[in-house]
Amino acid sequence: MSTLTAKNGEYAVPFARRGSVVGAADLAALTELVRSEGPLTSGVWRDRFEERFREWCGARHALSVTSGTVALELAIRLLDLAPGDEVIATPQTFQATVQPLLDHDVRVRFCDIDPDTLNLDPDALAALITDRTRAVLLVHYGGNPADMDRVMALTRPRGITVVEDSAHAIGALYRGRRPGSLADIGCFSFHSTKNLTTLGEGGMITLSRDDWAERVARIRDNEVDGVYVPRTGAAPDRPALLPWMKFADGVYRHTAVGIRGAGTNATMSEAAAAVGLVQLGSLDRFVERRTRIAARLDEAVSAFPGVRLHRAAPDSRHAYHLYTFFLTGGREVRERFVRALDRLGVEVQLRYFPLHLSPEWRLRGHRRGECPHAERIWFEEHMNLPCHPGLTDAQVDHMVAAVRRALREAYDELATVPA
Ligand SMILES: *Cc1c(COP(=O)(O)O)cnc(C)c1O
Repeated sequence: MSTLTAKNGEYAVPFARRGSVVGAADLAALTELVRSEGPLTSGVWRDRFEERFREWCGARHALSVTSGTVALELAIRLLDLAPGDEVIATPQTFQATVQPLLDHDVRVRFCDIDPDTLNLDPDALAALITDRTRAVLLVHYGGNPADMDRVMALTRPRGITVVEDSAHAIGALYRGRRPGSLADIGCFSFHSTKNLTTLGEGGMITLSRDDWAERVARIRDNEVDGVYVPRTGAAPDRPALLPWMKFADGVYRHTAVGIRGAGTNATMSEAAAAVGLVQLGSLDRFVERRTRIAARLDEAVSAFPGVRLHRAAPDSRHAYHLYTFFLTGGREVRERFVRALDRLGVEVQLRYFPLHLSPEWRLRGHRRGECPHAERIWFEEHMNLPCHPGLTDAQVDHMVAAVRRALREAYDELATVPA
């Protein structure tokens, strides 16, 4: 093993605390912002970041918000779901993807995943679509793009809205196009651990419809469902008033788009937007680093016949937000592997527990057996390893050696156990 040692009881190779590298260029943008006389919110940096992101993504609209979770909440609000509506969702994701649906009186149908990509399986999706299906919520798992052409072919003709949770997929490509531009609505997270961060928290929603963009712009800016419309015509008996004083003399009117509910404040700060803009320029470098680490790990684990890799289709690009592989041979093999890696200082975190089996969804009637692939993979095969640009070469070398050794231990012990 390498000489790398863990400090203060921490892992020698930690899972991501930060998913990108924040450095001198980010600090320069922050310095420029602080030294300027400009506002610290709702200013030019947000406009610039959104415009750059929109162009980069290839989406019609891109609106920044305070987190990926808020982007998903807004996406689900745009669906205007009614009681009895059905929404199809992947169970292999972070809880925020489907969490907003807990507040709606709708039927959620969890769709099984493809055991090789962990993305929603189009065949399983086809079997779940009914006359009541209003939307599909999918994730590009780990940064590996979902089979969007098949998903869109199934949903488009039926007017079903497709939401791409692209929190993992910043930097991925699907047949030359970017996730977040492939369906109706895209949701991005700039949380500390994601491939690009806006200093810890942040998000973006991409939209294919102008009325949705107008609605989101107003909801995130504390507007409720009514706007002030000034009375027309002169008021000769009154002195000229400052614009805001006209408020007393206007009428309220419901707008054509209509927010249908309360607004909120989901405004990204100027500091977050300034860093986001710089990070977007560094993203390709971050994803290249992730890809190189993933290639080293692929090489190490594929020497073991019991292992399956998590790969993008040849015409797509994996963004490696998560490095994933699958251990076959039963759950004891995986347990031995995890214990050995832990001893060797490599931190393992498994993402994600199948959502339909979590308490909030079990309470709503969801059961084991609903998504057999998602369940089997999670309980027996699933593995994630650290893969982020903050890892040094020495940490990557250490991890590769540790993974080889842990796999040998896991499979050798199996060979000595009588059948
Ligand atoms: C991180 C993440 C979110 C939530 O984003 P936040 O910015 O942390 O609120 C949603 N979905 C997926 C798949 C994620 O990984």
